Amino acid sequence: MMPNDIAESLFKVIEARRDELVELTRELIRFPTLNPPGEAYRPCAEFIGQRLQRRGFNVDYVHALGTPGDSERYPRVNVIARREGQRAGPCVHFNSHLDVVQAGAGWTLDPFAGVVKDGKVYGRGACDMKGGLAASIIAVEALLDSSAELPGALEISGTVDEESGGYGGVHYLAERGWFSPPKVHHVIIPEPLNVDRVCIGHRGVWWAEIETRGRIAHGSMPFLGDCAVRHMHAVVERFERELYPALAARRTDMPVVPSGARSSTLNINSMHGGEAERQDGYPAPCVPDSCRMVIDRRLLIEESMDTVKGEVVSILERLVAERVGFKYSIRDIFEVLPTMADRDGPVARNTAAAIRRVIGRSPEFICSPGTYDQKHIDRVGKLKDCIAYGPGILDLAHKPDEYVSIDDMVTSAKVMALSAWSLLHATA
Ligand SMILES: [Zn+2]
Repeated sequence: MMPNDIAESLFKVIEARRDELVELTRELIRFPTLNPPGEAYRPCAEFIGQRLQRRGFNVDYVHALGTPGDSERYPRVNVIARREGQRAGPCVHFNSHLDVVQAGAGWTLDPFAGVVKDGKVYGRGACDMKGGLAASIIAVEALLDSSAELPGALEISGTVDEESGGYGGVHYLAERGWFSPPKVHHVIIPEPLNVDRVCIGHRGVWWAEIETRGRIAHGSMPFLGDCAVRHMHAVVERFERELYPALAARRTDMPVVPSGARSSTLNINSMHGGEAERQDGYPAPCVPDSCRMVIDRRLLIEESMDTVKGEVVSILERLVAERVGFKYSIRDIFEVLPTMADRDGPVARNTAAAIRRVIGRSPEFICSPGTYDQKHIDRVGKLKDCIAYGPGILDLAHKPDEYVSIDDMVTSAKVMALSAWSLLHATA
């Protein structure tokens, strides 16, 4: 752990840069990095790259050519900045996503102005996660300014498309070795998970579309057709009777918050059956011959993807055997396995110790109900020592009047700087 006097001077440097941290957050918010379509990625990446280049970082821009959404108008441009220390040692990497979701309705202030009010910075992406990105930049810069020499290397990346799966961002980079040893050893993702919590992983996902088939006929004589919506109702009824109780009864050892997400869950995202109404509002006078349902199943670390899929398929197969005329197809849309880092691993342990030192209380170890880019670092980069830690309240993400508290940004910058220092010196 860092000697007291060095820690105290580091904290002073960070506190003195409070206004700079606020300005940096506001500047980042002013890039409208909306995803979709992937707006302003390049200028935002260059803004970060130019700043860090001035601080002695080597800066690479990686254009994820041909990934979803990539085009001349909306290039998927990532920035990775690296600064080598004075001697050999591990590399600590801070990874933030640059993209934000649509502003949506209900804002009382301009979502891309970076308004400061009552100790908070407001804007789309303030909390998810430009506040965290700014805090990590200030943390690393302060560390460089207050330490005579550092071993190893520090990296900061700004990556794109996290909100749409990360394929043009962390996934693309992880496939090319940017998130694996010997380049990188420890990763902190400053997602908005509160300044006193260390997030060690997330549940998995399976999205699929189920379609039931029927036979079209005149609506006045439904007995001549076969209604696909009624077949789908039979599926939902089985879900209600068998699947939902079974999922709710399954509890994980993952410390997922909120605790409702500590069970397996299934959401029915959408359902579409029969023909759409005509433009004048009159309904289609037919028996539906197709009904489609999209499901969103969230998996626990104790569950395998095969078992999760098998459970749904077995319900459908039993309906084939038991229900006259029941026909279905099922199509995978997207899947991600659950991931969880060791809470006693270097990055989690050192960040927890830094939280105790800065805030004066023990952190909570948590897992996220939904996924974020850790999946690619773990599964593709094969780097397990990765956590999410950053300022901001997760519940505010994607909402109108999103904000990040300035005090929280300062606190988290101290924690990040301290944690990085300890990680760099651990094996040196
Ligand atoms: Zn995020």
